[in-house]
Amino acid sequence: MRKILVTGGSRGIGYAIADAFIGDGADVTITGRDGDRLTAAGARLGARTVLADGTDTDAVEALAAHFHDGVDVIVNNAGGFTGAPPAAAAPLATHADHWTAGLRANLLSAVLTVTALDDVLRGGGSVISIGSIGAEYAANPYSTAKAALAAWNAGLSASLGARDITANVVAPGFIDGTDLFGGGMTAERRAALIERTHVKRVGQVADVAALVHFLASDRARHITGQTLHVNGGAHTTR
Ligand code: NDP
Repeated sequence: MRKILVTGGSRGIGYAIADAFIGDGADVTITGRDGDRLTAAGARLGARTVLADGTDTDAVEALAAHFHDGVDVIVNNAGGFTGAPPAAAAPLATHADHWTAGLRANLLSAVLTVTALDDVLRGGGSVISIGSIGAEYAANPYSTAKAALAAWNAGLSASLGARDITANVVAPGFIDGTDLFGGGMTAERRAALIERTHVKRVGQVADVAALVHFLASDRARHITGQTLHVNGGAHTTR
């Protein structure tokens, strides 16, 4: 049975990704920081749960110990915004804290997870990291971390390829049904984000999960080192 790890699988996109693999009958483990929410999600899904903050090296080492007999697919999904930017006149140390938090949550968490599990990652497997459309244009820690995640992925693909392990980034645009924006999404902003798409609709968590599921399948073994976008045309590539 394939063993799948989805970090941050207790809600939103990660939950939908875990659900897609559960549908295969896979052995799925989800992580998160809120124990109650994680336990409830695991019970609903039929997934194993490991309480682990992806930015905490001890917690990630403990997570890796659950996979001593191997892992086939790692989905680096945990991430999100880590606070509003400080005022421009704030002390430089405050700016440093703001940037460090964003980079830790969205870049370091993925790097730590793959580093801790590298020696048990099985041939024929996949690493899929959730990036963001924000990596294409926004000058903030979140988006910069997502851009760096894609750069890291390119090197990861090169190093894992000889073991027949693929590594890709799935970069969503605006996706409904998640807590990413908390209460911060206004009707005006939502309408503007939808207007930017070619299809004039908001993405769904299932849209992202379907691509992740495909990238981890036998049909996608020659796709590696890529960033694949799920954004309704809000950002286009050549
Ligand atoms: P949610 O806030 O709905 O879900 C985030 C999940 O990650 C939760 O399960 C959360 O659980 C967990 N999580 C967050 N930080 C950590 C951490 N440090 N360690 C372990 N678990 C963590 O957001 P989304 O589903 O929207 O986000 C999932 C991914 O998709 C993120 O990487 C996000 O950047 C990306 N994305 C989302 C978009 C959108 O429009 N929704 C657009 C582009 C990218 P807990 O809080 O309990 O830890």
